[in-house]
Amino acid sequence: MLHESWSAAATGAFGAFCVGRGGPTLLQEPSPDSANPPVRGNEAGASVASPIDMTAGATRSREQSAGCGLYVHVPYCRRKCGYCDFYSVPVHDRPVERLVAAISAELDRRLAECVLPVHTIYIGGGTPTILPVEALGSLLHALRPVVATHRPVEFTVEANPGTVDERRAAVLVDAGVTRVSLGAQSFIPAELATLDREHAPADLTRSVATLRAAGIRQINLDLIFGIPDQTPASWSASLKQVLDAGVEHLACYGLTYEPGTPLTERLARGEVTRCPESLEADMYEQAMDFLPAHGFDQYEISNFARPGSQCRHNLLYWHNEPYLGVGPSAAGCVGRRRYRNVEDVDEYLTSLEAGRLAEEEVELLDDEMLMHELLLMQLRLTEGLAVEVFRQRTGMDPLQLLQEPLGRLTTLGLLTVGTTHVALTRAGRLLADRVILELVRACPPGVRH
Ligand code: SF4
Repeated sequence: MLHESWSAAATGAFGAFCVGRGGPTLLQEPSPDSANPPVRGNEAGASVASPIDMTAGATRSREQSAGCGLYVHVPYCRRKCGYCDFYSVPVHDRPVERLVAAISAELDRRLAECVLPVHTIYIGGGTPTILPVEALGSLLHALRPVVATHRPVEFTVEANPGTVDERRAAVLVDAGVTRVSLGAQSFIPAELATLDREHAPADLTRSVATLRAAGIRQINLDLIFGIPDQTPASWSASLKQVLDAGVEHLACYGLTYEPGTPLTERLARGEVTRCPESLEADMYEQAMDFLPAHGFDQYEISNFARPGSQCRHNLLYWHNEPYLGVGPSAAGCVGRRRYRNVEDVDEYLTSLEAGRLAEEEVELLDDEMLMHELLLMQLRLTEGLAVEVFRQRTGMDPLQLLQEPLGRLTTLGLLTVGTTHVALTRAGRLLADRVILELVRACPPGVRH
């Protein structure tokens, strides 16, 4: 969790300032503590066997990109980090080759049923680079036809420092991977220990050098703020290390305490102290000052990039574009149909090996949910909600529909409202969850499709 892919690809809830987690959610209503909210209804039932109409509702507006994203979830890690409630299991003794075969089978099926070209590919986890190099090669081999046929504009793989060696880096480059996202989290050894991270800061430096030498041009680092005992000085030191690492992209997330994680249990036992909310806000502001001053544009609540290096895959989520999800626990949404695969490797394998998809949750977005999604996703972007896109997709004018809360939140200095976009101000970003919740609650009830 707190991976770049998590920021945009998984179900999530807002962190303290909406800079924790958030993405294409299966959310009906934003909730500060709904880590993995259930879908509304389950029309198709679990483990749906019948082919699905992936083109339903896929009529495209001019504003939408011509294609869809493809997310592949590899649910294995060497061991679990203390703060993580994302779906991943320890890799030892797991059926790696069976998983790769099942993912390949699902991939073939999803692509056969989707008429849209694949615009971006993102392999997340988990830790995809924890796979034995042969299995990683097999997984990437399964994606070769997609790369050759669809010529995606970006192909990202997530990795943990310490899992990137020269052989793996070469395999990535050979398969057409253009971008790697590294889970740095902090450059301070004590903070990495608090998070139960396995790597040391030096591993990160080595990983970046290895990837560069292999030919990877775009690298993202994930960093976490609000770690127990983190200080503005230590946060500043980590931010400066990002500059030294010479990467193009940075994703900064506030630490969240998810129910049932070891870190949350340590918090309950008084073994760690939660970072005060005001200090966490200060650290977020520190990032918003420091990074733009050093050439990183903040283009989303949690994401900063050098010009031209925004994550194209995550932008697709934030623009409410269609995406396919493949692998255990992966979610996809095309048109108004959204699904999530079962969060269990064994069940996933059983379904795919029996020739069935492993969908656990399926829902059709009604008008109200669609409005919520547009607000939840697009207001995360610095450019904000595109008024015309909202009009085209919902048939409603957001400036009229939300006139009262828009006026009030603008007066409070939390929003700017223009003729083309509605955007959070800097102050609004600090209160993004509350601002967006107000707008979501002002949407009229929808019509089920
Ligand atoms: S590397 Fe850690 S944070 Fe990332 S998915 Fe694995 S256990 Fe979770």
